[in-house]
Amino acid sequence: MQNLVLIPIGAMTRNVADFLSLSLPEILNVPCRIMEEAVALEPFYNSDRKQYHSTEILRQLLPFAKGKKHHIIGVMDEDLYIPILTFVFGEAQLGGRCALMSGHRLHQEFYGLPEDESLYLHRCEKEAVHELGHTLGLKHCQNFECVMRYSNSVADIDIKRNVFCPGCSEVLGIPSLW
Ligand SMILES: [Zn+2]
Ligand SMILES: [Zn+2]
Repeated sequence: MQNLVLIPIGAMTRNVADFLSLSLPEILNVPCRIMEEAVALEPFYNSDRKQYHSTEILRQLLPFAKGKKHHIIGVMDEDLYIPILTFVFGEAQLGGRCALMSGHRLHQEFYGLPEDESLYLHRCEKEAVHELGHTLGLKHCQNFECVMRYSNSVADIDIKRNVFCPGCSEVLGIPSLW
């Protein structure tokens, strides 16, 4: 990955984008900038599920990567789904250059608990690194603490670290921050 572009989508609050634009370069060793682009959400809203179709929104990001060398992560706060699953935290093109994540289910408030901004931001960071790891060709890792471990709940996310394990770092050919 040579450059990373972060595109805030929908009602995403700016502080999340700002936080990620500072933290992701440290973890991924890549420059990151925020790009404001109009990404349509409404056509991909499913009113029965009250969620947005992840794959369709991810597809909206592809033109922003075409002909460029950068990777893209779209960051949003609306709830995402793919038809076979109740929800997804995010989605990415395996070995491609586009990724998408939602912070919707990363808020403590979502689970009826008092909001914890710091915890929320760090969960967003792990989810962003995870999806971008997929764009770099990484599949799910069995190491419980590796950021590439599959997460089905925030409990799973909270167990993980925000960095690639030594094995995943080796695959990527980058120094391990473990
Ligand atoms: Zn994954
Ligand atoms: Zn790993």
